[in-house]
Parts: sequence; C-alpha cells; structure tokens
Amino acid sequence: ISKSVKDKVKIKKPLLEHPTVHVNVKRDPKVQVARLKLPVLGEEQRIMELVNENQFLIVAGETGSGKTTQIPQFLYEAGYAEKKMVAVTEPRRVATVAMSARVAHELALTNKEVSYLMRFEGNTTKDTKIKFMTDGVLLKEIQSDFLLSKYSVVIIDEAHERSVYTDILLGLLSRIVPLRCKRGSPLRLIIMSATLRVEDFTENTRLFKQPPPVIKIESRQFPVTVHFNKNTYKDYLKEAFRKTVKIHTRLPEGGILIFVTGQQEVRYLLRKLKSCFPYRKDVDYSKLITKNTKGVEVDTALDSEPDDINSDDDEVEKEMKRARKARRKAKKKVKALPKINLDDYDMPEDDGQADLVGNDDDSEGHLSDSDAEEDSLMPEIKSCRQPLWVLPLYSMLNSNKQARVFEPPPVGARLCVVSTDVAETSLTIPAIKYVVDTGKKKMKVHDHVTGASAWRVVWTSQASAGQRAGRAGRVCAGHVYRLYSSAVYQHDCPPQHAPDLCRRPVDDLVLMMKCMGIDKVVNFPFPTAPDRLQLRLAEKRLETLGILERHDSKNASRNCQEEILKVTPLGKAVSAFPLLPRYGKMLALSHQQALLPYTIALVAALTVPEVMSGKADNWPATGHTLLLGDPGVLLRAVGAAEYAHRKGEEQLFCAKYGLREKAIKEIRKIRKQLASEINLSVAGVDVSVDPEMKPPDEKQARLLRQLVLSGLGDQVGRKIGLDEVKEGEDKRKFKYAYHCGDLEEPVHLHSASVLRKTIPEWVVYQQLYETGAEERRKMVMSNVTAIEPEWLPVYVPQLCNLGEPLSDPEPRYEDVTGKVLCHYKGTFGKAGWELP
Ligand code: ADP
Ligand code: MG
Repeated sequence: ISKSVKDKVKIKKPLLEHPTVHVNVKRDPKVQVARLKLPVLGEEQRIMELVNENQFLIVAGETGSGKTTQIPQFLYEAGYAEKKMVAVTEPRRVATVAMSARVAHELALTNKEVSYLMRFEGNTTKDTKIKFMTDGVLLKEIQSDFLLSKYSVVIIDEAHERSVYTDILLGLLSRIVPLRCKRGSPLRLIIMSATLRVEDFTENTRLFKQPPPVIKIESRQFPVTVHFNKNTYKDYLKEAFRKTVKIHTRLPEGGILIFVTGQQEVRYLLRKLKSCFPYRKDVDYSKLITKNTKGVEVDTALDSEPDDINSDDDEVEKEMKRARKARRKAKKKVKALPKINLDDYDMPEDDGQADLVGNDDDSEGHLSDSDAEEDSLMPEIKSCRQPLWVLPLYSMLNSNKQARVFEPPPVGARLCVVSTDVAETSLTIPAIKYVVDTGKKKMKVHDHVTGASAWRVVWTSQASAGQRAGRAGRVCAGHVYRLYSSAVYQHDCPPQHAPDLCRRPVDDLVLMMKCMGIDKVVNFPFPTAPDRLQLRLAEKRLETLGILERHDSKNASRNCQEEILKVTPLGKAVSAFPLLPRYGKMLALSHQQALLPYTIALVAALTVPEVMSGKADNWPATGHTLLLGDPGVLLRAVGAAEYAHRKGEEQLFCAKYGLREKAIKEIRKIRKQLASEINLSVAGVDVSVDPEMKPPDEKQARLLRQLVLSGLGDQVGRKIGLDEVKEGEDKRKFKYAYHCGDLEEPVHLHSASVLRKTIPEWVVYQQLYETGAEERRKMVMSNVTAIEPEWLPVYVPQLCNLGEPLSDPEPRYEDVTGKVLCHYKGTFGKAGWELP
C-alpha cells in the first residue's frame, strides 16, 4: 500500500508557476541593432518556454552567441527579476564585472539594478534585480540561506570550465531546485556551456534523475584555417612576438588575438609590440597610409623602467634583463629623444634588436614557422607604418581598461589583444581575424603526496585549442597560428583536461566541503565524482588527525540515527592554510615557544618534493636535532641556504651541498606566503624575521618532533625487533626495517635518512614508496622523525586503545616542562602495539 501511495505522491507534479507580467525595456537603438545579430535572439521564445515549464535547462552555444549578455535580459523582460533576483555565476572575476556592466548598459539600467558581487568587491544594492557573482560567492550564500530564497533563477555560466566551485554548485542546486518547487516557491536553474559536450550533466543520473532539456544554439561560424608550426620552440613568447610581427606586416586587415598564459607574459608582449608599432595621437594615420608617405620610425629608445614586472618566471625574467640591458645601451646612443605625446604608451620596451629575426619561406602564401636566430624582422618592422593598437586582457586587469577591448581601434590602427585564456570563452572580442595560439595555459597542479599546489604552464587541451581557433572566425574567414607542431597537438594535448575537482587532492576537497557545511561528501552528487574510496579514506584520515569528528544526527528520511563527520574547531583553523590538512594542522598547533618560524620553514620544506639529492652525509646531524631526523636536516639546509642567498652564493651553495636550487627558491616563496598569511591572522606575531633561523634549542626540537607527529600521526612505524625475524631469514636485511600501519611487509629507512645512525624504536614518516626491481623490490620510508611512544595518546588519541589511568607505575612527565605525558596503559593502532 505504502508503495502505491508513494507513487501517487510522485506523480503529482510540483507547482511550477511562472511570472506573467512583462517588463518593458527602452534599449538604445544601437544596442538593439547589435543584439539582433546574435544567434541566441532567434531562440528567445523557445528558451523562455522551456524555462517556464522546467526546473532545469541546459543552454549550449558557441562563444559569442549571446548567452551571457542576452539570457538574463530575456528573464528580466519576462518578469523573473520582479519579485526575486536573477543570479548569474561566473568562474572568473573579469567576466563578472564586464558582463554586469554590459547587461546594465543594454537594458538601459544602472549598476544599482544590474550589479556584481565577488570577494572583496561589489556594487549590489537592495534594488538589484540581476546579480552577477563569482561562483564562490553564491556558494557562500548557500551556507547562510540554503534555499537561496532571494532568487527566482540561478544561471551557472561557463559550466564547461568545470571549476571546483561550479561543480559543487551544480551538485547543490540539483537538490535545492526541487526543494524550492516542493515548497511552492519555484527556483530555476539554467546551465550555460560554450561546448556542445554536455553529457556530464545530462547523463549523470545522480545529478539529475531525468536529463534536463538542452537547447543548442546554432551560430554562424566562418571557416578558420589552422596553421601548425613545423617546429615547437621552447620560447613561445618570442615566437608569438615574431608571428604577430609577420601577421601585422604582411597580412591583410583584421584584428589579432594572442593567447599567452599569464599577466606577466601579457605585459611583456604588450610592451614589445607597442615599441615596434607605436600608436601616436598626433599622427593622422588615415592620411599617412593612403598617401603612403614616409612612415613613423620605430622608436627603440624611449625610456621608462618596467616597474610593474615582478616576474617569477625565470624565462621571462632573463628575457627582460636582456632587454633592459639593451635599452640602456640604446639610450646611451640616442641622446635627443623626440618629443611626442604618448598618453597611451605605457612603458615601451626595447627588445634588444638582435632578437628580431625570421626569414620565412612563404611558399603557401601564408606564414610559415620562423627560422629562429638566423635572420631579422627588423627591416619589416621599420618599414611598417601602420600602428598596432595593442591591448592587454587578463583576470586582474581593472574594469575600465578591460572594457577597451570591446571598442574599435583608432582609424588606421590594427587591433591586437594579448590575452590569457580569459578570451577563450568568457569574453568575446569583436573583429578578430587572426589568432596566435601559444598552446599553453597556466594550470594549478597538485602534488598528491605533499599536497603542494603550484601554477604550472601546461599544454592546453585540444578542446581549448578549438575554442581559441574559433575566436578567429566570428566576423569572416580567419586563421589560427598554433605555435607548436601538429605532433604536439596529437600527442601532448589531451582531448580535454579533467575537471579541477578531480585533479585536486581529496583530503583538501573533503575539508573544504565540510567547512561549507556539506556533511555527506561521499554521497554528494558531483557532476564528475572523484573516487569514492579515496573520499572515504580521506574522511578517515582527517578523523584520525582530529580535523573531523563524529556527530550523531537523525536521518529523517530513513528514520534512524546515523553518524556523520563534522569539522572540529581545530579543523576550521587548519582549513585556513593553503596546504594539505596534515601540514595545516602542524601550523595550527604551533603557537607556542616561538615555534612558528620553524614550523613554517618545516612545512614549506616538506611540501616541496626532492629538495636534496644525494646523501644526508653533507649535513652531519648532531645532538638534539638528530632525533628530529630528516625534517631537521631539511630545516638546517633551508636556513643555511638563506644565509648563502643573502651573500649571493646560493647557486654555488646548492651545488656544493646537493640541494636542488629550484626547490630552495620554491621553499622561500612558500615560507613568505605562509608567513604573510599567518601575520594577517595572528596579529602581533611577526614570523617573517630571520629567514636564516638559529638552530632550534632542545625544547624546541622536542616540540617540533611532537608537531611532526601531530600531522603525520597516521603514519607511525615501529622497529622490527631482531627476535621477530623468522628462522632462516637473513637478519642483516632487517637492520633498518619497521612495521608500518597495516602493512605486512617490512618498511626500510631510506638510505639517505639521517636516522640510520640511531635507528629509533618509534618513528613517523612523510612518504612510503617502492624501490628496486623484481627481487630487490622493497618498501622504503622517507623524511623520518623519531618520536616517543608516550606522545601517541596525546597527539593521536584516535588510534590509541587506552585502558585505565596509570597509577602503578606512576604517570610519566615531560623532562622539560614537567607536564604529565602518559596517563594510560594501552595499545596503538590496528596491530595493537603495546604502549610502554
Ligand atoms: P556568449 O556568452 O554566448 O559567449 P556574450 O553574451 O558574452 O556571448 O557576447 C555576445 C556579444 O556581445 C559578443 O559579440 C560580444 O562581443 C558582445 N559584447 C559583450 N560585452 C560587450 C561590451 N562591453 N561592449 C561591446 N560588446 C560587447
Ligand atoms: Mg558567455
């Protein structure tokens, strides 16, 4: 009976009322003309019908078809923004600002009514009707108002980008929307994607029980010819420069769009190109070009120090240095500088003319690869009279400057936009005919063992390459110049990159979601789910570390009690650090005994892989720091390297003592970053002083060992006693062997471990791995620290099985502070190692 009742309840459709008022808009006629050209306009009626009748809708359409700017307007006109707001989320800040301004302009409303909100910045008011926001901001709002009761429609824009927050939002909204409908106050979700590949959303039955309707917007796209380079040059910036010079000097009219990886690269190319083809306000280019008079000379000696370049990137830095040197030389030569009005001419850069080379065989009538160093483009640059109107575009660019890419260039100048992947789908730049694609992008990569994350330059996916190419075919047939070979495209560019959420370590993700109040991470309807087992293991690990704890909660739907893991106060503190939780914990616990500077250095060193090559013999450990083990050696190495760095001898020092120089630089960066973050949160603590660090004293060294244990407490090893070795086995093989956790086979101290000198009974380790082939294969642990077993009940109580408090023998006390250390008798871990 109950089943049939349930079925009946299901059959009853939820009320899905939609507004019936129509809101009039007085658009500027110019705007009206421009929007009529957008493909999405032809679909207005179909889109609105589907929105009215459905809780979910997917809109897929080529970049530039008008999704972001027009669909919010359709909703506004249909009355969806009258009683509640329309929300639009963007993964990028730059799009959030630009799109809200554009929609306000098109609707002839102010930014009071069409506003934006992102972290640290926004202009929303109580009159806001359409609210653009970053995906992270909407996620925050869900935490305080789970039903999103202020909104009538949520649009998730750029869903194909699969940013972590967007993916989590989709999972949450797949549940929130039906809930709202059940309550008679419907909320609608529109998912917008620039790729037609939407199976991850439609075919995922956990996300949507029934696949939502999909509207595909057909848009007119002109053919784009793809040109691959024959060779793939390592210095893709220089190559991008050359290719652009050639396009500008040899090919017909049409805007150029260059894709590079980051702000610094954008500024670098911008400067180089501006200095070669400067635009001057006092010259009438229309006359100049038609009359074919003598052109403007390239001015290579304009002086200005490039002060906003603060490059981390070695390549760019080197290039910049060379350029600066060359400019200084040039400055000496040219004494009298011509007086010209260069308002828009920030920081021109001489590029050291020797660089400007290239002699193409232009056999097919189009540009071929540059032939690197041999020949020079300089004559072409000099004889070219047409200025290049070069504009930057990147995420952190301020909004006035960013809006300039939408305006036509001055008469006679050619538009050239140097952009990061922002221009790939987020912003459509008009009138582009040539795309120069370096094939690179910056991607956050995570090391799953150390948890360190860093931005790396990687090959774009083939899907991105396609998107970038598409930017050239919006106004007429276009060309894309890929600065890499077709072999690279075939073999090195993946069809697409996995979603961000599946590329980050899960410990991190679990903690992040728990902090957002998402308790059942394993059951969460991810669009693409990370490995379930990994999620469970991460939860367990975090529980062991005291970052999560069990809570009883009533499960109303199943009518039973169930346990869920929630964040502890310690966990909250840990989540503030951009580190894997275990390292965050070490930091969170080190507000004592002036330990923070050491912990910061230690954590920084532990999160960078392979700091030392070769043996620890270079670093003979002594006295009380010996027991701190390999992390102690790392600490000394880092401090000493800082000393060498101050004296300008870092390179020599690293080579001499077997340190990886790049790792040392990376550690310096992480230390600075952590120090500044902690200085912000702990007022009055300055942890950035003394990068060279005195060695820790005895008490500090002991506390550091305890901190290491607190973060690595699930990775404890106990020495295998020689009496435990079976008959007939070679005892010598067990000299450095330990039991570790549930592992049956012995684990050996790494051959470079400084603890081989003492072979302590109890240790924690950072990493386990296999070495050797076939018969010689064995398990090895590295970065090992000695611990005292009586610390285990204090720092890893979750893994201890404790009996009655000790009375006989007496509780044990810490030598230094006299604190009671061990109250209990008991065992540790699954294997039941007896605590002494
Ligand atoms: P989609 O979201 O489908 O990629 P958009 O709605 O972002 O498309 O863009 C539609 C059109 O509006 C594009 O041709 C774009 O160039 C134009 N556009 C967007 N913002 C501006 C602006 N600030 N000024 C002028 N044109 C703009
Ligand atoms: Mg868009």
